[in-house]
Formats: sequence, structure tokens, C-alpha cells
Amino acid sequence: MILVVAEHAEGKLSKSTYELAEAACTLGREGPVTLLVLGSGVATVAAEAARLADQVLVADLPALEHHDPTVWGGAVAQIAAEGEAHTILIAATRTGREWSPRVAVKLEAPLLEDVVSLEDVGGALRASRYTFLSRVTERMEAAGPVVVVTIKPGAFAAKAPSAEVAEQFDVELNLATPLLRVTGRTLEKTERVSLTDAEIVVAGGRGVGSQEAFTKLVEGLADELGAAVGATRAVVDAGWRPYSEQVGQTGKTVQPKVYVALGISGAVQHISGMGKSQVIVAINRDADAPIFRDADYGIVGDVKQIVPALIRQLKGTA
Ligand SMILES: Cc1cc2nc3c(=O)[nH]c(=O)nc-3n(C[C@H](O)[C@H](O)[C@H](O)COP(=O)(O)OP(=O)(O)OC[C@H]3O[C@@H](n4cnc5c(N)ncnc54)[C@H](O)[C@@H]3O)c2cc1C
Repeated sequence: MILVVAEHAEGKLSKSTYELAEAACTLGREGPVTLLVLGSGVATVAAEAARLADQVLVADLPALEHHDPTVWGGAVAQIAAEGEAHTILIAATRTGREWSPRVAVKLEAPLLEDVVSLEDVGGALRASRYTFLSRVTERMEAAGPVVVVTIKPGAFAAKAPSAEVAEQFDVELNLATPLLRVTGRTLEKTERVSLTDAEIVVAGGRGVGSQEAFTKLVEGLADELGAAVGATRAVVDAGWRPYSEQVGQTGKTVQPKVYVALGISGAVQHISGMGKSQVIVAINRDADAPIFRDADYGIVGDVKQIVPALIRQLKGTA
């Protein structure tokens, strides 16, 4: 079977779990796609997972409330071994990266880490990932009977939930003793939708002109569209925006329904982080800017004139 480990927060599956499910279902490897839901109080999450896989395994235990790497690594390895999983898919998020190596070690399996593509070629798993500060795309192949894979968030499309509801099974676990204890959590309140989950992203590049103009134009348009804010590396390097908003090879990979690129040239390192967006809209004053090769809709013009007009139109004050 293909074992997909669900990530979830606040009673909902994360977008990366939908992407893992898509990767599993399109891989064409034999056996059922099995979603594993670990956690405490996860009944709603398991019900959501039942629309993404052939079957769902659930371990609902207070000891699984937090991501202790020893506990999670041991639990996933146990279930993978008992279910004779040949492929284990985990999100390459901070937590997934923390415990996935433990799963690989326990199963004596190769670990394909942070991959952006995955295919089965004659029984071997082929994958690619960015390396050397993302200057190099590395291709790898794992031929072992069991392979552990972590997938870069945003690299795959999200699976559409099925109308059919898969069967759920409770699993029993021999949990390891936790070596870490989470002693508290503070949730940062933000009004804005997260960059990797957003359906619309408004991103700005150096062409926006300044930090102040970025706030006015990019944030202003994002507010009207209910969108997340993204930035190019040039903007992050200039200190206009935090690194957490950088889109591209050395930043986040996003796949929203609409990506609006304002004053962005369209360097290959930027495109690799947003090129799979469903619709790309670009505004750039240079008609030859490379971004127009990837854009579905383009406006040749000055963002300082066009974006305020768009904002006024959306506000209904035009
Ligand atoms: C190893 C490596 C990793 C990298 N990783 C990333 C990454 O993760 N993400 C990333 O984004 N980049 C990355 N880069 C950098 C990348 O190569 C580009 O330098 C960067 O994306 C350019 O950012 P930009 O489009 O904002 O700026 P520029 O290339 O300077 O483009 C600005 C654009 O704005 C237009 N413009 C100017 N004024 C206006 C105006 N008033 N109205 C409308 N348009 C205007 C210009 O015509 C131009 O096309 C990486 C580079 C390397 C070498």
C-alpha cells in the first residue's frame, strides 16, 4: 500500500495533505492509497481524509497531540511495517522533516527528501529536488522495496475530494516514550490568509518601487481580493518584505487559482515557485518582460497607475 501521513491543524487537514494524496493517487503504484491520521481528537479530520483515499487509518490518542519526533516517527514506522507499505509519503514541512528520517531509519529504507516531482519508472521511484541553494535540480532514483518520500509543499496540485467516503480503521500503537515536551503555544493572529493555502496571491517585485508603495499597492490589492501577499527575492533582499513571503526556488512554492504579479520580471527562479498557478495575471511596464511568457493575462503599463485604478474599481469608488 501507499501510506500517506496526514498533517492537520485546528481540526482541518492541511493543504499539503491534499497534495500528498494527489501525488499518491497519480503515482500508479499498486495497493490502496491509505491515509494515516495521527493525533488527539481527530474524528473530524479523519472524516475529511475519507474523501481523499481508498482507506483511512486512525490513531486518536492524547499522546499524539504534539509532534514529538520520537513518538511520531515510531508510530508511522510501526504502521508502515504492519501494513507492508512500499511507499510512505510525508509533507516536507518543519514537522515532517523532523520525524521522517526516523521512519526511514526504522524501516531501513531510502529517504527521498523535499521532492518536487515523483514518478514510478518500471518499479523504481524517480524524483527531483532543488539543491545547492536551489541552483541545481537533482534527479534521484530509489529502487528499494520500501521508500520514504517527503514532498515539498506546493509542488503538486491538491486532490479534489471524492464523493465516495472511504472506510476508516482504528489502529493500535506501541508508542515510544516522548523525549520532548511542548510546554506552550502562542498563536500569532493574522487577518491574512496564508500564502501556501491562498486561492489568490498578489505578489510584488522590485518594479513596485519601494516598501511604502508595496504596502499601498500589493497589500492594498490583496485586501480587496482577500488574497495572500507574495514577494520576489529582490524585494526580500531589499528588506521591504519578510522572507516568509518570498515565492520561488529558494522561497515558497504556491499553486493558487489566481496569481497576480506586479512589477515582477519573471526570472526562472521566481517562476519555479508559482508557474503552476491556474491563472497568472501580470502587470509590467516592459512588454518584453519574461513574465508575459507565463502569464494568461497581461497588462503593459505602470503599476503605480493601474493598481490604484483597480483598487478603486474593486472598492466601487471608481
Ligand atoms: C540561486 C538563486 C535563487 C533564487 N531564488 C529566487 C526566489 O526564490 N524567488 C525570486 O523571486 N527570485 C529568486 N532569485 C532571483 C531571481 O533571479 C531574480 O533576480 C528576481 O526574481 C527578480 O526579482 P524582481 O522581478 O522583483 O526584480 P527585477 O528582475 O528587477 O524586475 C523588476 C520588473 O519590474 C518592472 N517594472 C519596473 N518598474 C515598473 C513599474 N512602475 N510598473 C510596472 N512594472 C515595472 C520591470 O520592467 C522589471 O521587469 C534567485 C536567484 C538565484 C541565483
